[in-house]
Amino acid sequence: MSETRQVTIIGSGPAGLTAAIYTARANLEPLVLEGEPSSTSDQPGGQLMLTTDVENFPGFPDGIMGPELMMNFRAQAAKFGAQIETVKASKVDLSERPFKIWVGDTEAPEPTYLSESIIISTGAQSLMLGLENESRLMGYGVSTCATCDGFFFRDQVIGVVGGGDSALEEANFLTRFAEKVMIIHRRDELRASKIMQDRAFNNPKIEFLWNSQVTDVLGDDKVAGVMIENTQTGEASQLDITGLFVAIGHKPNTSLFQGQLDMKDNGYLVVEPGTSRTKIPGVFISGDVQDDYYRQAITAAGSGCMAAIDAERWLEALHDQ
Ligand code: NAP
Repeated sequence: MSETRQVTIIGSGPAGLTAAIYTARANLEPLVLEGEPSSTSDQPGGQLMLTTDVENFPGFPDGIMGPELMMNFRAQAAKFGAQIETVKASKVDLSERPFKIWVGDTEAPEPTYLSESIIISTGAQSLMLGLENESRLMGYGVSTCATCDGFFFRDQVIGVVGGGDSALEEANFLTRFAEKVMIIHRRDELRASKIMQDRAFNNPKIEFLWNSQVTDVLGDDKVAGVMIENTQTGEASQLDITGLFVAIGHKPNTSLFQGQLDMKDNGYLVVEPGTSRTKIPGVFISGDVQDDYYRQAITAAGSGCMAAIDAERWLEALHDQ
């Protein structure tokens, strides 16, 4: 078992890495468990690793690609001395201090890390439709990441499910490659912001399939189409597409904390209003894992800063005792 760290940060999206920058600059030598590479947003760098142009992060008037922005965050945290480990926490025990964190075997008698304080920044990840063939064909035409996979659909007709900003952003990006992008939405009204709607409506390569729900994904070893049900009439039809991008929202990554921290009905972690504090002294939360409302990179980064300052002050008070 290693020595007891002052601060351990779980997660490495904008929240986790901002907390790392601030705690490193406060000489707390933070340990960051950044996660492991995966095809979902539950990976080092978080959701921005799966996006394209980020146009609303202040400081980049010409925009910046999501992965590049996260590499910059990471480099800045490392520069100030954050120790970043490419591992995923598999279990935590918050019942007493120092808090215990396991990586790998959850049955191992000794935890991998001990920490006086923890900043939880585990983020959120893409929701899926929950269809059997959707998961079977994941990576074979089904995707949640236009940046990663858009290139494979050059001159093809593809579908995007959803009616929020994510769906419209994905659809717009995919028109760089695809011949046509069908946005399949279960209602006849979009949830997305006005600017994103205007952009999609004005894109000649985008068509909308309203009141439509995907009920099955067709294809043996790659996507060959989807079955659609009209949500008004119940009528079934087949849509011939070779790719399906699912962009229907997110769920917080909270399984590590079940039964240990308070959660809202929708699974997001609860903090004391206006702070990053939890009911457990020394445990702080930042980023999308506690934010079901704003969910922006900049708000996540801001809350990472709050968590770092809350942790720093809490540790200071602890050592003064
Ligand atoms: P969202 O706003 O929650 O939208 C999810 C969409 O998926 C909704 O249109 C919803 O339909 C649909 N949906 C949900 N479950 C479904 C299901 N089982 N089957 C079919 N459709 C389903 O999620 P989001 O688009 O990921 O955006 C999340 C947040 O991030 C928002 O605050 C958004 O503004 C922000 N965001 C911003 C940007 C940007 O500014 N560039 C980009 C991406 C995301 P209903 O409308 O019928 O509920």
